[in-house]
Amino acid sequence: MAKHGHGCDNARRSAITALATTYPRISGKSHRASSDSGTLPSMWSFQEFKEHCADALALALPISCAGCDRPDRNLCQECRARLVADLQYRELFDAESLQRLPLWFAMELGEPLSGVLHRFKEQGRTSVSKHLATPLREAMKASYDSVRSQELPLRISWVVPPSSRASFRQRGYSPIALLATAAGVRPEKLLAINRTRADQSQLGRMQRFSNMKAVYRALPAAQGKKVILVDDVLTTGATLLECARALRAGGADVVGSAVLAYTPKNFQDTRRENA
Ligand SMILES: [Zn+2]
Repeated sequence: MAKHGHGCDNARRSAITALATTYPRISGKSHRASSDSGTLPSMWSFQEFKEHCADALALALPISCAGCDRPDRNLCQECRARLVADLQYRELFDAESLQRLPLWFAMELGEPLSGVLHRFKEQGRTSVSKHLATPLREAMKASYDSVRSQELPLRISWVVPPSSRASFRQRGYSPIALLATAAGVRPEKLLAINRTRADQSQLGRMQRFSNMKAVYRALPAAQGKKVILVDDVLTTGATLLECARALRAGGADVVGSAVLAYTPKNFQDTRRENA
């Protein structure tokens, strides 16, 4: 099956916007009686019209569902209905610093989420970001609310793990920064990368932790900030714990974390383990 790159996505997005903006907005006095139009079905909402535009466009720029490969939709209704937050709370425990990190996650990693994430991160399908950002936002809100109930007022700095220059160059965007932005926050740059590390996906649990050791350092701006970490997928927690360690060493107060999906088989409930 043909892969569709970033440029293709952009072309599609502008075409949909161009098509959709030709649809007359229904707003008060400026709206003419729909019966005299005859060209556009006036019973469609603007959103529905956009959907139909997307379908029509799929004929010109072939596409398949990012979740299930069904042809002609960016993300089909069935897959969309399954990208819904089912919030869960855990605590990550850093055995070295003996620090805890509260964690809210939106979903367990499975299909169709895994496929959608893969196409989003590795195949440039940035058009699905809003569908991934919706459940992520729920986890972020839960994390924020759990802190807010303890302290008022609250100014949170949202921080995502920095992506290496190489991966940014390769993709042209940082997937997690894009997701956090789509979820409604502007991630703050409070972390820098000390050294490159091996690809985590090839490593076992213990290797992941040693691979992440001292990878990040806090920037001076981290001092005194109250931080919630945001990430897309959590497997062992090594990345988030390293972010927390570096930020805390730099004088930040890391109060929690929010993750879209966690990987069940590798995840250990360290809260119970260390209780
Ligand atoms: Zn689908």
